[in-house]
Parts: sequence; structure tokens; C-alpha cells
Amino acid sequence: MTDIPLAAPTVGASALTFIEEALEENYVSSVGPFVSRFEGEFARTVGSRYAIACSSGTAALHVAMIATGAGQERLVVAPTFTFIASVNAISYTGATPWLVDSDEATWNLDAGRLHDAIVHRAENGERLPDVIEVVHIYGHPADIEPLLVLRDRFDISIVEDAAEALGALYVTGAAAGKHVGTIGDIGCFSFNGNKVITTGAGGMLVTENEELAERARHLTTQARTSRTDYDHDEIGFNYRMSNLAAAVGLSQLEDLNGHLEKKASISSRYRRELDDLPLSLGPDESWAKPSQWLNCVLFDEGRAARDRVREAMAQEGIESRNLWKPIHTQKPYLSTERLGGEVADDLYTRGLSLPSSVGLTPEDQGRVIDVLRHAF
Ligand SMILES: *Cc1c(COP(=O)(O)O)cnc(C)c1O
Repeated sequence: MTDIPLAAPTVGASALTFIEEALEENYVSSVGPFVSRFEGEFARTVGSRYAIACSSGTAALHVAMIATGAGQERLVVAPTFTFIASVNAISYTGATPWLVDSDEATWNLDAGRLHDAIVHRAENGERLPDVIEVVHIYGHPADIEPLLVLRDRFDISIVEDAAEALGALYVTGAAAGKHVGTIGDIGCFSFNGNKVITTGAGGMLVTENEELAERARHLTTQARTSRTDYDHDEIGFNYRMSNLAAAVGLSQLEDLNGHLEKKASISSRYRRELDDLPLSLGPDESWAKPSQWLNCVLFDEGRAARDRVREAMAQEGIESRNLWKPIHTQKPYLSTERLGGEVADDLYTRGLSLPSSVGLTPEDQGRVIDVLRHAF
């Protein structure tokens, strides 16, 4: 039995009030006032012009890919160190993923290495990527400036997978003060049960670009062109969020700052109290304010220590998980073209994520820390 989960949801009482309101108005499905309210509040929260609520983060990414031009014969860059949904969203369109290793500082897509590879390809007249998908993994902002340079120089679109990173910001640099997800052409968020906020299942697509926003909205609503007729001008999807889910989302958004504060305090305690052990904690760069979605440790001794600690935790009913298994090692992507992968392999081999739920009590976090120390 697990009594300290990895990332359990915390849903406040106002969710019930909003759900009751939605039920009283008899709006349960994918039209309804809560969807627009949630979209409006979300856009204000992250500082984007448009926000389109979707049935999942994966759905938002899929639509983002189509809207930015991914499809047959297209090449789309993605990090190999991510959850598989990031890359599946590319494959759904028929585009070919090009997997790029992580940088050691942020664990995110190695922008410097990608820059050099793209310049090299351009010089040799080789095919260039049409879209770069950058993921803010575990909630830490990616080094996005070099990617903006590539966008401008080679006319490449940028999609941000901010599924784990709601609330994360850039502190300095060209994007200072901006939320992740609002810097590229489109940003996508997830409201799955384990994410920073939840709607049960759900996602959000944000953009500054009116054309992209309209196209994304169109694609999520079966590409219907008319209010009166069932007229559809392309093959769309049933990807809209339901009004009930949006009611939960609106209440979760009210709690967002509280969730982020709790996650920050959990993270600083792990950093403080695990400091003397032969391990290192996940990225925390001075130019970034991460969402601290999940706290991860890398064991100096490698896989054996990781497995020992994970087993010891499981014995005590504490859930911990290995880090993302790199996409280039997943069966559907074994023969996918890639740029490196050694850093991602190393993170996967040595890393473990620790309980980081908003509802984690100080006592429970103390237990996690004790069990971890004893396992050494
Ligand atoms: C959770 C997640 C997704 C998918 O979101 P869903 O809402 O579960 O579809 C995509 N990318 C990353 C990095 C994620 O962590």
C-alpha cells in the first residue's frame, strides 16, 4: 500500500461549488460558461493573449503540432528526455521526430548542440526542421533564447510543452518575467491528476497569434464551420474540455499560488536536508523560477543506489519513480534519428523522483528523508 504518493492532486472545496453551479445550469459538456471563464483566467494567469482549453495536454500538443505545420514529410525536433506524449503528438501528424539530448544544467533540450547541428545542416543543404518542440521538464524552464535565434534565422516554429511547468518563469534574459509556454509560437499545459493543477484530465493551448488560436480552436471542435449546419472543412478532433472539467480548473487556478508555494517549500527542504549525501538534486538555475513539479535526485553511485532507495521507500509505503526513460530507448522510436542521448541515458540511470504532492505534510516529508538516508 502506498501511503505517501508521488504527486497526488489537491482539490479544494470551491471545486464543488463550481461543479454544483455548472450542474444547476445544466452545462456539463464541451460548451458552457466555465470553459470560457477558465480560458480567460488562465490567459490572465500566464500572460497570454489566447487560451484554448483541451481534453488533455496530449490533445493540446497534437493540435499545436498541426497548427504550426507538422505533418507528412516534415521534421520536428524534440528532446529525448521527456514523457512519451511529447513525441507521440509529433508522430500523430505523420511528421518525423528528430530527438535531441539534454543539457546537463537544465536537463532540457541542449539548445547549443541543436544550434550547431542545424547550422551544419543548413550549410550542407540538408533538410531543416519545421518545428522545434521544447519541453520544460520537471517544471524547470528550458534555455529558450538560442531557440528563438534559430526561429528567426531559419523560420522554424517553436512549440513549448509546459505540461509540468505551470507557474514557471524566466527571471533574467530576453524572456525575463515571462511564463513558460508564452514565448514560443504555441505553449501547451496539462491538467492531468498529477500535474501542478488538475481538471481530472485536461490541457490548455496558449498563443499570442490570432490565426494560430483560431486554427487550434477549429481543430479541437471537429473543424465545424457553421453554428447552424454540420459543415466541416477538414478532419478535426473532439478535443474540447468539458464544462465540468473547466469548473474544477477554475477552482484550481484560484489555488495555484498556494500550490506553487507549497511545492517551493517542499523543494527547498529536500535541498537543505539531503545536502550532505552522495547525490545531487535537480536543476535550479538562477535565471529561472521553476514550478518544482517533481523533486528529483541523481545518485553519485548510479543505478544500484537508485534501485536500493526506491525499494526501501516502497517497503515503507512511499512512492518514488525512476526518471523519464529516454524516447530513443522506447520501442516505437528505436530507429528515430537523434543527436546524442548520453546525458538523457545517464539521468534515467541515476535518477529518482521523490514525493512532491502539494498535500505532502512536513511529517511525511520527514519520513521520506529518513528512509532515504537510512537506505545509504
Ligand atoms: C503529462 C505530460 C504530457 C501529457 O499531458 P496529458 O494531459 O496527460 O495528456 C505531455 N508532456 C509532458 C512532458 C507531460 O509531463
